[in-house]
Amino acid sequence: MLTAGLDIERKRDLMRRELFEPEHEAFRETVRAFIARELVPHTEEWEAAGVVSREAWLAAGAQGLLGFAVDERYGGGGVDDFRFNVVFDEELVAAGVSGFGSPLHNDIIAPYLIALANEEQKQRWLPGFCSGELITAIAMTEPGAGSDLQGIRTTAVRDGDHYVLNGQKTFISNGILADLVIVVARTDPDAGHEGISLLVVERGMPGFERGRNLDKIGQKAQDTAELFFNDVRVPARNLLGEEGKGFIYLMQNLPQERLSIAVAAAATAEKVLELTKQYCRDRTAFGRPIGTFQHIRFELAEMATEVEIGRVFTDRCVQDHVRGELDGEHAAMAKWWLSELNKRVVDRCLQLHGGYGYMTEYPVAKAFLDSRIQTIYGGTTEIMKEIIGRGMGF
Ligand SMILES: Cc1cc2nc3c(=O)[nH]c(=O)nc-3n(C[C@H](O)[C@H](O)[C@H](O)COP(=O)(O)OP(=O)(O)OC[C@H]3O[C@@H](n4cnc5c(N)ncnc54)[C@H](O)[C@@H]3O)c2cc1C
Repeated sequence: MLTAGLDIERKRDLMRRELFEPEHEAFRETVRAFIARELVPHTEEWEAAGVVSREAWLAAGAQGLLGFAVDERYGGGGVDDFRFNVVFDEELVAAGVSGFGSPLHNDIIAPYLIALANEEQKQRWLPGFCSGELITAIAMTEPGAGSDLQGIRTTAVRDGDHYVLNGQKTFISNGILADLVIVVARTDPDAGHEGISLLVVERGMPGFERGRNLDKIGQKAQDTAELFFNDVRVPARNLLGEEGKGFIYLMQNLPQERLSIAVAAAATAEKVLELTKQYCRDRTAFGRPIGTFQHIRFELAEMATEVEIGRVFTDRCVQDHVRGELDGEHAAMAKWWLSELNKRVVDRCLQLHGGYGYMTEYPVAKAFLDSRIQTIYGGTTEIMKEIIGRGMGF
């Protein structure tokens, strides 16, 4: 018989990871319990509402899960170790929670505030950042400019001790809930990328309006919104860093954003493959488990190989980042390759689920919809290849 000697119940463990220390694994237990207790029970309700609750943010803050890298003086964890971010991001994926915006807050926004805010700004913003009272967003993209960041048209014109901000942003994650929005604006129309600055716009500033909470194909509980700025008088003391250095700050911080997306992509591919392996053991056709058909066995073998390769590369990039050695090109490699792997694996796994894969109640269908964005936001696959190619001198 074709399947003789094949132990289809055997579970093949993934390669042992060398990234984490015992304190990260202990932290994983805390995070897992928090997600199961505070986030998972509300997932359906939040997906229907298109937004998570502010209480969830406060609960995360109370548990010490916001601002690990922020100094303890401001209520943060005081530990600058991206591996804690990785653990939180991975556990969100493992639990199928796609709408809670902590990866944006912790992985993407925190570095801007930590590195660029002056003492007065830190005292104003960081305690709320860590407690969950101040939810954050970053607004780069405009209706007419996404990949081409230098094409932004939002302007901030200095008027005494204020900037007068005018423009429109779109696709902004945490856009509805955000209390602080780092807005990328042009402060000098004639200075090219040296005319771009970062301004922190606060909830309630006159002229700052939110548009639609956009209806997306996945990540339904994540509020992704349009933002409008009509003659918003932003105090000059809300300038982040120096005027005219905004583009440089973005370039400095985008590698961590891309690594964060790669981490989520690797975790998604791994999780969906695990689910699919089980499905291929349990589902029978023509009198045998479908995983024993050579075609499907090969599909699983190929995906398992690629997932392992992707995992090792991602972990190595995280290690380099923790050492302060990750460059923009390697972050771009991780971002495009892992997000494309995610897309490929989830699509193939959905196929292996047959008709059940198309049913939204199956986790593979949810992963298919939630993770489709990975190759697009944070810089598209095409833009990642541009960065890598240019880094090679072409
Ligand atoms: C769910 C979601 C959340 C988001 N969150 C945020 C957020 O919080 N903050 C924020 O600022 N933005 C956010 N974005 C925006 C996101 O980063 C942009 O959508 C993305 O960078 C692409 O920009 P674009 O949509 O304008 O596409 P375009 O730039 O118009 O690109 C269209 C296509 O052309 C390709 N292309 C463009 N230029 C080149 C080139 N030089 N060579 C080859 N191909 C090219 C692109 O790869 C893409 O395939 C979010 C988007 C989504 C959908």
